[in-house]
Amino acid sequence: MTSMTRPAITSPTQLFIGGTWRTANSARKFDVVDPATGEVIAVVDDADISDAEAAMAAAVAAQESWAQTAPRTRSEILSRAFHLIIARTEELAAIITAEMGKPLADARGEVAYGAEFFRWFSEEAVRISGDHTLTGDGKNRIIVTRAPVGPSILVTPWNFPLAMGTRKIGPALAAGCTVVFKPAEQTPLTALALAAILLEAGVPDGVVNVVPTTDAAGVVGSWMASGSARKISFTGSTAVGKILLAQAAPTVMRTSMELGGNAPFIVAEDADLDRAVDGAMVAKMRNMGEACTAANRFLVHRSLANDFAAELAARMGALTVGAGSRPGVEVGPLIDRSGRAKVQRLVDDALARGARAVVGGQEDPGPGYFYPPTVLDDVDARSDLMSTEIFGPVAAIVPYDTEDEVIALANDTEWGLVGYVFTQDIDRALRMGERLEVGMVGINTGLVSNPAAPFGGVKQSGLGREGGKVGIDEFLEYKYFAIPRS
Ligand code: ADP
Repeated sequence: MTSMTRPAITSPTQLFIGGTWRTANSARKFDVVDPATGEVIAVVDDADISDAEAAMAAAVAAQESWAQTAPRTRSEILSRAFHLIIARTEELAAIITAEMGKPLADARGEVAYGAEFFRWFSEEAVRISGDHTLTGDGKNRIIVTRAPVGPSILVTPWNFPLAMGTRKIGPALAAGCTVVFKPAEQTPLTALALAAILLEAGVPDGVVNVVPTTDAAGVVGSWMASGSARKISFTGSTAVGKILLAQAAPTVMRTSMELGGNAPFIVAEDADLDRAVDGAMVAKMRNMGEACTAANRFLVHRSLANDFAAELAARMGALTVGAGSRPGVEVGPLIDRSGRAKVQRLVDDALARGARAVVGGQEDPGPGYFYPPTVLDDVDARSDLMSTEIFGPVAAIVPYDTEDEVIALANDTEWGLVGYVFTQDIDRALRMGERLEVGMVGINTGLVSNPAAPFGGVKQSGLGREGGKVGIDEFLEYKYFAIPRS
């Protein structure tokens, strides 16, 4: 990769607080690194707790007038932001690829997906409805209204730097909530570019505040303890989610948690093998496997396991690995050195327990944090990667014999985000889908995420749903008026 082929990074690098761009109070900055090269591509202002407090004060000051803003006005701001994102697809995709690593084609896909949350919630902003009924004895009217929950803390991971932001900002703004938004430290540039778009779309001062920092615990902790925030919406690891749930307790804060996954991908004996392999390519390789929805455990009926492994290995082994900005590249680098080291550790453990590497299995020494697409067959179900999110391009195949056995294996995890079932038998598909302890089921598909659908998990995968008709509910409270009939 030469710098000549790298698109220019056009994102702001300062904090966005109260409608203005400003430097961090400490004047400290931090590096943003291109994971394809390990090179620094930008330096960004590094917020400390005093900046965090300023952002929260701005969000609190803007809350009442934003809540009073006409739904149509809120809707139109989101709609303008949607159109601006689409118009700037190339610019945003280049930023996503530069700081996160995914190939440009995938980054463009994320821009379309991320923008759609703004379009969806611009439509929902004008459809917030209540209810009017009578008490059972007919003596009282019950009028139910919906009110914004209030200033909201948004914390996102690095794997979908744009879409994770729009998925939270969209419903918050549609509902009438102001936000303080801390993007992941690896990917602040996309979040800041998004702030610039929202500013241009007409978001009033203080409604959206974006605060990149290397001190996540300090900045978010100060917001959690402030007593001013009424809501936290978090996407990230289960470990951090639990810390935030504990921090939410003292102020009884509303929480939405999109946490880890450990998705089973089940291929039944009657599955269409080609379709299952197509689905596996999406469920495993989208975002280089760096997605909480990524298929983590391929549970394949023993009669198909070797054929499935061979076909998947042929497809995965043929993918072009390289810097995401290079034309034709299909698999970019992992996010950082420790992400790659974790994948290697999990693969080594599986191999030591008797798995067979059909393709891949050994990390690329770099520069850049590349890991080759890897298929492991005959994986022992006790291997660490069965109970750990791999977050890399490694497909681990465990053969099974009976439906009861595979359901027990699939549910043998504290997580419950998504499960994939491949079968041509509709009864089996629904029966297995119902038995899986997950929030989402993909039937003969490797992709479930869509702004029109309620995304979320059960068990330790989280609380609440994002997207769909219910996505806005996470940022609304019910208020009921009791009115006697006289
Ligand atoms: P990942 O493994 O995907 O990086 P994390 O849960 O560590 O997952 O990170 C997700 C988001 O949570 C990031 O924005 C990160 O900065 C933030 N984060 C990490 N630790 C804390 C913490 N103690 N309190 C609040 N936010 C945190």
